[in-house]
Amino acid sequence: MKNYTVLTMGDPQLRLKSLPVKDFEDPGVEVLINNMVQVMRNSMGVGLAAPQIGVAKRIVCIEVNNNKRYPEACHIALRILINPEIINTSEEVELGWEGCLSVPGMRGKVSRHASIKFRAQNPDGSAYEELASGFFARIIQHEVDHLDGILYPDRLDNKLDFGFERSLPEFNRAD
Ligand code: ZN
Repeated sequence: MKNYTVLTMGDPQLRLKSLPVKDFEDPGVEVLINNMVQVMRNSMGVGLAAPQIGVAKRIVCIEVNNNKRYPEACHIALRILINPEIINTSEEVELGWEGCLSVPGMRGKVSRHASIKFRAQNPDGSAYEELASGFFARIIQHEVDHLDGILYPDRLDNKLDFGFERSLPEFNRAD
């Protein structure tokens, strides 16, 4: 595997609008997906979008499995979303803390739709629609933002709810 590093905020590549995947026969897509999953797991992420490793393609991977960075999060088995699109959103929004591998060491409070309906394709190209709520819906909204060049600090409700994990009382716990 090529040695990928996660790009961090300030890198112009994170601000590009990524292009849809059209050729599902391209073996490069599978290689890219495998690399993304490795990078996500090695970095203790719960999600990763291809532009975070410098590839402007609309591919997202998501997995939550006893993650120390998100100890209260529910388990989500590995998901690969290709060309994901949010097609419906709940009126209800939830304010919650987010982190991002491209904004290391920091957290910010962001409002997201409590539930969404999204459309996406599997790695074999088959399309589906699905409902998502809670943390899964939050991750999808965060990752789809990456595909459009948006980072969560752009969406802070209150600029004061943003800072380093080691300094924020909510994360700097003694236990
Ligand atoms: Zn992110």
